[in-house]
Amino acid sequence: MRLIMFGAPGAGKGTQAAILSERLGVPTISTGNILRSAVKNRTSVGLQAQSYMDAGKLVPDEVIIGIIAERLEEADCQKGYILDGVPRTIAQAQALEKAGVRFDCVLDIEVSDQEICHRMYGRRSCPVCGATYHVEAAPPKQEGVCDHCGNTLTLREDDKPETVLSRLETYHRQTEPLKEFYESRGILKVVPFQPTIEATTQAIADILGI
Ligand code: AMP
Repeated sequence: MRLIMFGAPGAGKGTQAAILSERLGVPTISTGNILRSAVKNRTSVGLQAQSYMDAGKLVPDEVIIGIIAERLEEADCQKGYILDGVPRTIAQAQALEKAGVRFDCVLDIEVSDQEICHRMYGRRSCPVCGATYHVEAAPPKQEGVCDHCGNTLTLREDDKPETVLSRLETYHRQTEPLKEFYESRGILKVVPFQPTIEATTQAIADILGI
């Protein structure tokens, strides 16, 4: 199964990708997580990406295309993969097509901007393993501590209110046009808004027939 999780920042792509990844036995590839790790390790990609990320802007296409091409070559992607947060521009989608990367389904998780803002302000992330939580909707077992690796959870720099608004604007302007791109290829499937994580997972399972 080769999937793209599509939607605004904070729509729940990462959360649903993690659930699906376990169910389907295929890896999730999150360019956001790859970039955050590059920033933390101060690699050349990280140094290029940081200022864009902090401002809620997109990292240049050529950086992303390089990252994703390399990752999809790895052995664990042979059986399938779930892309989370990529492609985010028409140029990225075209580059993937040109490289022969095909998808079975693009899951478009629809959430209003108002709901996104509410969610992102309560989001907490693990700076070490990338797991995400929400103070109300999906709290960790112990407050402020990652269930997976025990590290202290933080509010991501780009989840701060002013950056969230910039990220939403970037989404509508640069990423949303991809809906039409994949619609025209017959693989876009809309996941209507659901009030809980579980209901969203169920809606996705119904679409995929799993
Ligand atoms: P995310 O965790 O997916 O919301 O990504 C966090 C930030 O990383 C974004 O706001 C962008 O600055 C950058 N980023 C992640 N994926 C991409 C992508 N496919 N294209 C451009 N920038 C990206």
